[in-house]
Amino acid sequence: MVGGGPAGCHTAIAAAKYSNQNLNILLMDRNSRSEFGKKTITGWSCGDAVSKGSVDYIRENLGVSYQYPELEHYVKGVVAYSPDHQTPVLFEGDGYVLNRKLWPQKQLEACEKFGVQVKFQLAARNLVVEDGSVAGVEAINQADHSIVRETARVVIDASGCASVLRVTLPIRSHIQREIDRDDLVAIRRYILEFDHGGEDRTFFDPDVCIIHLDQYLAPGGYAWTFPKGKNKVNIGLGVQKKSLDRRNTRFGEDDSLKSLVDTYVRSNTVIENARLAKGTEDRGNEDNAWQCSVRRPNDCLVANGYAIVGDAAWMPRPIDAGGIGPSLYASVILGRVVAEAVGAGDVSERGLWRYNLDYMRGYGSQMASFEVLRRFLQNLSNDEISYGMRHFLSYEDVEKITKREHPQFSKIKLLNPFMLLRIATHWGVANGLRYTVKKHEALQELYNQYPESPYEFLGWHKQLTRELNEAYVRFP
Ligand SMILES: Cc1cc2nc3c(=O)[nH]c(=O)nc-3n(C[C@H](O)[C@H](O)[C@H](O)COP(=O)(O)OP(=O)(O)OC[C@H]3O[C@@H](n4cnc5c(N)ncnc54)[C@H](O)[C@@H]3O)c2cc1C
Repeated sequence: MVGGGPAGCHTAIAAAKYSNQNLNILLMDRNSRSEFGKKTITGWSCGDAVSKGSVDYIRENLGVSYQYPELEHYVKGVVAYSPDHQTPVLFEGDGYVLNRKLWPQKQLEACEKFGVQVKFQLAARNLVVEDGSVAGVEAINQADHSIVRETARVVIDASGCASVLRVTLPIRSHIQREIDRDDLVAIRRYILEFDHGGEDRTFFDPDVCIIHLDQYLAPGGYAWTFPKGKNKVNIGLGVQKKSLDRRNTRFGEDDSLKSLVDTYVRSNTVIENARLAKGTEDRGNEDNAWQCSVRRPNDCLVANGYAIVGDAAWMPRPIDAGGIGPSLYASVILGRVVAEAVGAGDVSERGLWRYNLDYMRGYGSQMASFEVLRRFLQNLSNDEISYGMRHFLSYEDVEKITKREHPQFSKIKLLNPFMLLRIATHWGVANGLRYTVKKHEALQELYNQYPESPYEFLGWHKQLTRELNEAYVRFP
């Protein structure tokens, strides 16, 4: 196992659990014990929001429970505000804002309790191959720069968004190695303490996570203010690089990710006298930037002796970059499949294929549709987003999105000729949304038929590419 983030830890625990602790599981992370799970040099970069459902899923399936202080703050849901601040959309559902620096320590504790051997300060740099199958990892010991070689029947790559192992995978495989840069968002965030400059629940609400949609402030992404207490927030924003360049050219600006997030913090009327959080539980994690994928998961997750999970497999949801839930869900499946495959003596691509099937036909099946929806939304203006949220989003759509399912936009289906006249100025928005629903139906059907074995993959993938290319032409 490479990578001690949520995906790596929970896959290791799941493999231990489903093998009745009969497997020798080694987890290597490039960090020291005290900085376990740290994503980049600048910290445990995250918005820290997770649904209660995801936390419960791990307790119910793996018997691992988390509580305060790693579940730092409880929230009742997420509210997304339209760019004109006129339309709040509440996505109801219990959740937490995590302490991402403390949570890995609890995951580490759970790993060790399940008999997982954890090695620190090992940075994997390439895969070891034998007879066309991955057979181990070569890593650099960060303490003395020596080269370490570990052999394994299966190597699981949970090394996050910038996985070097996936990019340099040296065997024949259906796994896509590179990501298109337009399918990444750059994200920067702070953990701040502040004094209350007033009351305005559209800017800060201790009970809900707030998302601000605004193509000028966060082009191709969104800004957020997530409460971590009464006087503490995780606040940040994500942008698509190309959208930011286009926006800067259009308005003659020279904004960077940092200048945008600083503007966002300053524009918050509740946050006064903002300062970086000082507690030891946040030290070294108060200010950082990183990237996140916003495409569907890798179309194939396994190769001979090798599997990818979490951000290394581009699992975050394309419309909100939420990646913790998908990584937890996938971890449980992968751990079980690996335990079964090793038990059956077949860790080939075929032997591990069940992981593809169970993930893609389950949680993963909605993600290609969300990728298409994300592309459509990224092309809209502030006025179009505000109009769409006010007139086209129904209660049922919100419920669907809350359940991580693609909305039906049924209000658009019901438009009569009189209404069509009224929305004439925003016909393009209605038509685009209608198209995303149609495309979703086609993609959902295709994912329900995700191939049972690697031999049928190419035919299926050809159909997927055709469906997606059609959408890419429409939403370039
Ligand atoms: C700024 C930001 C905000 C986000 N906000 C949210 C949010 O609010 N809610 C949500 O659900 N998701 C959010 N996400 C996404 C979420 O953080 C990720 O989906 C999640 O962390 C994925 O977990 P992972 O285990 O796959 O990868 P990671 O958490 O990235 O863990 C990878 C681990 O592998 C280690 N590693 C990397 N390379 C190597 C190597 N070569 N050798 C050894 N170890 C290595 C890393 O140091 C790290 O410990 C956000 C992402 C970003 C960047």
